[in-house]
Amino acid sequence: REFDQAGLHPTMLDNVNLSRYHEPTPIQAYCIPAVLLGHDVVAIAQTGSGKTAAYLIPIISKLMGKARDLAAPRPNPAQYNPLTDRVRAEPLVLVVCPTRELACQIFDEARRLCYRSMLRPCVIYGGAPTKNQREQLEMGCDVLIATPGRLMDFMQNMNLLSFSRLKFTVIDEADELLSSGWEDVMEKVFGGSDTNADADHTYLMFSATFPKEARRLARQYMDSDHVKIK
Ligand code: AMP
Repeated sequence: REFDQAGLHPTMLDNVNLSRYHEPTPIQAYCIPAVLLGHDVVAIAQTGSGKTAAYLIPIISKLMGKARDLAAPRPNPAQYNPLTDRVRAEPLVLVVCPTRELACQIFDEARRLCYRSMLRPCVIYGGAPTKNQREQLEMGCDVLIATPGRLMDFMQNMNLLSFSRLKFTVIDEADELLSSGWEDVMEKVFGGSDTNADADHTYLMFSATFPKEARRLARQYMDSDHVKIK
């Protein structure tokens, strides 16, 4: 299997080549076509398997085809004053993961894969001041990578996010999120797309193990024919 036979957007194919990924890892070989076809996906995946690119490559590739219509409106720098202007970010993709380190790794990969597209990734995580993260969001955010505490802060306390345009929701390291007590946030993230009556919303969940609660979330929110990758 090769990346150039997967039906990816030409810009994505260039970005994959720039990342020096020559052939898909097993999880990518299964996940990329499934997401391109519009399926929800549950995957058992360890760190190091290439799981991040397995979801970012097809999601960003699909959005590249429509980026001109979909990419977040950018504030006019001549008129925009970050101190006084409040703009709610409206991401197309939300990735939730348990730690700041993982969030930053996913962000780096998203930045490389969004290169030369109109899509802009942002990352938010706890343990750092909100100011810079908020300013980054206000510059426009298409792909949001977030840890759960900061996500709730930005969503509920600061009202900086709208999910009305959201098309893809990814939960990465679901078992870690569950064992750290973030079940209610995962429930909100998966259930929250009811603000968005869009039937073509795609859900993806990645995890090293699948505890009962993760299976329940998949059953409850995903299409009944979601693809399972082991
Ligand atoms: P992950 O499992 O997502 O944490 O990825 C582990 C590492 O594998 C990361 O450094 C990726 O940049 C790298 N990687 C992902 N996909 C490929 C690929 N198809 N070929 C070579 N390296 C890859």
